[in-house]
Amino acid sequence: SSKIIGLTGGIGSGKTTVAHFIEEFGFPVYYSDDRAKTIVNENEELKFKIKELLGEKSYDENGIYNRKFVAEKVFNNKDLLQQLNEIIHPAVRIDFEEWLAKQSKYLVFKETALLFELKLHKQCYKSLLVTAEDNIRTKRVMDRDGKTYREVETIMEKQMPEKDKIKMADCIIYNNTNLEDLKEQTERIIFDIE
Ligand code: ATP
Repeated sequence: SSKIIGLTGGIGSGKTTVAHFIEEFGFPVYYSDDRAKTIVNENEELKFKIKELLGEKSYDENGIYNRKFVAEKVFNNKDLLQQLNEIIHPAVRIDFEEWLAKQSKYLVFKETALLFELKLHKQCYKSLLVTAEDNIRTKRVMDRDGKTYREVETIMEKQMPEKDKIKMADCIIYNNTNLEDLKEQTERIIFDIE
């Protein structure tokens, strides 16, 4: 069976860019956060449970997840957020297992923003962290999303500090320069994993 490499990084670190390079090198990538966004709209049992927890307004008249409403509901309510996560995370885990069963490559990658926070690295063969200096990440996100310096900083402050992630990671890509360097590091690291 395939070995799972957990791929993670903070906001603007470049983890999605690395994930795309990994696919170019021929390895499958499961995008946990994207899949979660799809699953909340497709899994009927999950929809039922979310409405039960947070109310009918969690979905609009077309049955589409109301992200803004849900975010407001769980904002500053740790208990509700935890209950919501207890509904969503197992569904994503099952979806991942189904995806994994179809893979034949010896290595597969699972991109998850909260790999260490949710202790998901314990279910992986190895973890791969993409990191960069805070000011570089901030500038990249400002350019990408049109956010202000302060807005990016606020998000960053809520995430696990890079120094803690660096301590926990098995493999690290330092994404402080350019895309050519990033691609080269990615290639070296993935073909070195054994
Ligand atoms: P988020 O968690 O915010 O989605 P991410 O970790 O997935 O971020 P990316 O979207 O891959 O990060 O990268 C952030 C932005 O920085 C993107 O616009 C990307 O094209 C750009 N970028 C990433 N790495 C580099 C690099 N080495 N040189 C130049 N631009 C880069």
